[in-house]
Amino acid sequence: MPFATSRRLRLAAILALGGCAPEVPAAPPRIAEPAVGLRGPETIGRLPDTKVFDATLHARLDEAVHRIDGRLQLRWHNRSAAAVDHIPLHLYMNAFRAEDTAWMEAGRGRHRGVERDDARAWGYVDVRRVTRNAPADARAAALESGTSGIELAFVEDDDPTLGRIDLDRPVAPGGSIDLDIEFVTQLPEVFARTGWSGPFHMVGQWYPKPGVLLADGTWKAHVFHFHSEFFSDFGDFDVHLDLPPQMIVGATGVLLDEVLDGERKRQHWHADMVHDFAWAADPRFLEYTAEHDGIRIRQLATPEHAWSVDAHLQAQRAALDTMQRNYGQYPWSTITIIHPPKGAEGAGGMEYPTLFTTSAVWQVPWPARVVGFSERFSGVFTTVHEFGHQYFQGLLASDEFSQPWLDEGMNTFSNVLVLEERDGPDAWLLRAGGLEMSGRDFVRAAVRDNALLQPVDQDAESFDPVVGGYGDIVYRKTAATMLTLRNLVGAERFDDALRTYALRYRFTHPTGADLEATLVETLGQTISLGQADADDPSTGAVTLDVGEFLDQALRTTRELDVRVHSIVNRDAAGERGWHRNESGVLIEDDGSESEPPPPEATVVVQRSGEFVVPVEVEITFADDTSVTRIWSARRRVGTLVFPGRRVARVRLDPAGKLLLESHRLDNHRVAPGMRVKDGLSGGLANLAEAGAWAAFVGFGP
Ligand SMILES: [Zn+2]
Repeated sequence: MPFATSRRLRLAAILALGGCAPEVPAAPPRIAEPAVGLRGPETIGRLPDTKVFDATLHARLDEAVHRIDGRLQLRWHNRSAAAVDHIPLHLYMNAFRAEDTAWMEAGRGRHRGVERDDARAWGYVDVRRVTRNAPADARAAALESGTSGIELAFVEDDDPTLGRIDLDRPVAPGGSIDLDIEFVTQLPEVFARTGWSGPFHMVGQWYPKPGVLLADGTWKAHVFHFHSEFFSDFGDFDVHLDLPPQMIVGATGVLLDEVLDGERKRQHWHADMVHDFAWAADPRFLEYTAEHDGIRIRQLATPEHAWSVDAHLQAQRAALDTMQRNYGQYPWSTITIIHPPKGAEGAGGMEYPTLFTTSAVWQVPWPARVVGFSERFSGVFTTVHEFGHQYFQGLLASDEFSQPWLDEGMNTFSNVLVLEERDGPDAWLLRAGGLEMSGRDFVRAAVRDNALLQPVDQDAESFDPVVGGYGDIVYRKTAATMLTLRNLVGAERFDDALRTYALRYRFTHPTGADLEATLVETLGQTISLGQADADDPSTGAVTLDVGEFLDQALRTTRELDVRVHSIVNRDAAGERGWHRNESGVLIEDDGSESEPPPPEATVVVQRSGEFVVPVEVEITFADDTSVTRIWSARRRVGTLVFPGRRVARVRLDPAGKLLLESHRLDNHRVAPGMRVKDGLSGGLANLAEAGAWAAFVGFGP
């Protein structure tokens, strides 16, 4: 899922509407469909054996009424240590069945700015019949003859997004079962991820999906809540689509075969080691294909968005380059980008295995350009983000219900790195007049208000849409946490640690504990950030406790905030006054014979938030030389004394490493009576920074 844009960003989008329609680019030569779903083992290595099912899906689309007659034949393996007597099924489409589903109640028919008005048609999935087939060897024959096995009881839960199949006999550990599930899916008129809009059909979360069986034999299956996303096991899919002949289709996996059969088109799709299968169909789709590093990139766009496919392609290429290096090779042979047509924006910005929906690039009209407004954020950021989910969710299929930050937050962190590698670390995403917002500014913005409402590490249901903050906390505070840690320990070291995590847990369901343990193991429990005073070994090393840092950032709402309390320049104590001499007689020293006392500077720094993390302190002296010290910030207040010096100004966290810090304007202070030689005075600089923040950030979702 993409970011919830701030009101200000949405306003910018509205301002930017209304440019004249650019030309539709000619499609480059078509890159052939890959023959297999996975890239070769010489590229991606040996995959872990974590496959839980083989699924065969048959789906016949009645485009006039937007209904799918479906059949799921599922061979499901019990990989747990316990016998299984029931199988829960997710029925996500039922979220859109009525006003009183858990999902609709929470959102009241609004999702990411798109409203479900009463005129929009409902959607549902109706399980018609569940049977257990005869043993595997007899299965094909039974299907062919039209007979099927034993009918099983199926009931929906109180909330219709969950149901359960009761088995007539348990599946033993290591055993398997063949299920045959007939269902009808009525697509809703799209406003949240899935459904139809005119001839466009986005078919996501459309078939009954089993829960995830944990190793101890307990099921993970969740009612579809407003903020929760999806959690499923890995398996192989063969999907047979029966469609009107004019439909152009994008789907998970690769197209093995297509037959035009009178009035219908029949397609056979195949996908290996994926946890979901989604598809989109529209007769207006134009197809643009490209190749990158042996991966076929396929974009499907209706004519009004075709002008932007090259921008999305460049973003996709950049995302592949950075993420393959950081997290290992992308394992599948293809990636498909769906551009939802106008009117179907609610389908945009959603990830599925080897396929995602993106969002439109704004067309900035000339009046906005004249006043200096430009942006390279819209649309392409969605492509970077949704592709990022191929790693954080597609490969590392964490339980998004219980720990959404593992997916959305880690992905958002990785997106910033993609943009920084593409455009440079300080590159702007949004520019208005002389003000610029970088990827880091965008992430930091979240930390200012909403991030203090709730901790990061909690389940999706705990984020009430009325309270808000889900996007700021789960997406951006997580990203700010990881960027801060990366800045502190060093980029290369951090990227190595995360690569270890990604490779170790690919095609599994890592938890937050797995990620944190991997970081602590690879980075070290404590990391020396250097001597408190680089010139004085006696000051000892200041260390960062990685586990403590993560614990504070993820499980508390402590505020990270430091400030320069004061700078005092005065003379060192002199020797005037009465002292006893060697004979014990009191003698007055009137100063006439001694040197005047040297100057001495004292800097007081303060930790004003509860979050403890070492901070760099940059001290610039009156002669314009500087030193940098590291302050542990264990205590609330720290003093740094500089005999013989006068301090001109002090800056905390001068390199901007602490993206988690809520208030940065007080990190800089000029000593009383000191004139600043370079650039703006402190006050003016603060004003400029405040202006930039006010222009771009600090607004609720
Ligand atoms: Zn997302």
